[in-house]
Amino acid sequence: MGDTSGQGRQAGGTPRAALADLLAGNRRFVSGQPVHGHDVTAAAAAASGDQQPYAVVLGCIDSRVPLEAIFDQTFGAICVIRTGGHVLDRAVCGSIEYVVGQLGVPLVLVLGHERCGAVGATVDALRSGVRPGGSLAHLVDEIAPAVTEAGLDDPAVQPLAIRRHVRRTVHTLRADDLLAGPVAAGRVAVVGGLYDLATGEVVLLDAG
Ligand SMILES: [Zn+2]
Repeated sequence: MGDTSGQGRQAGGTPRAALADLLAGNRRFVSGQPVHGHDVTAAAAAASGDQQPYAVVLGCIDSRVPLEAIFDQTFGAICVIRTGGHVLDRAVCGSIEYVVGQLGVPLVLVLGHERCGAVGATVDALRSGVRPGGSLAHLVDEIAPAVTEAGLDDPAVQPLAIRRHVRRTVHTLRADDLLAGPVAAGRVAVVGGLYDLATGEVVLLDAG
């Protein structure tokens, strides 16, 4: 298998190069011509050797959004964290801090997606006034500010809230204790994006 990686794959690469590599992978995926997607063998995994990931992607648990596949990435290329509605908690933040601080990864991509069930559940909870029990309440509580900002009465509240929730998550990570310094220095970028379930395309969101 040829090495289709760019500068972003090298240790100490720039956030811009890492982002370009991720988006190039998504274009291969969208075009139906992935170069890594078919090679999910133990031999391919073993060939990855030491891990030198160039990006960390935080996405939703949604079964339709497998992150390595939609970015056409091979073993060892990206670190992936998935939670319902890509909600943050200490374990998620600590994992990102580890990847950035210890592995030198220059890019954090927060990826929301259309028709997110976690955001829909939050809209339902706020409209009904019934907060779910258990740890599900944590997901709803974390997504609720984005829904409120979007406007609970807005017919388009769900797509609007998804975008706001991605941006809020990006802003939270940029202000993280261990990430704020590298972000301010330009060594690390935290960016947000949206995945389109219909086309497979990832579109970046401005920080707004
Ligand atoms: Zn989701």
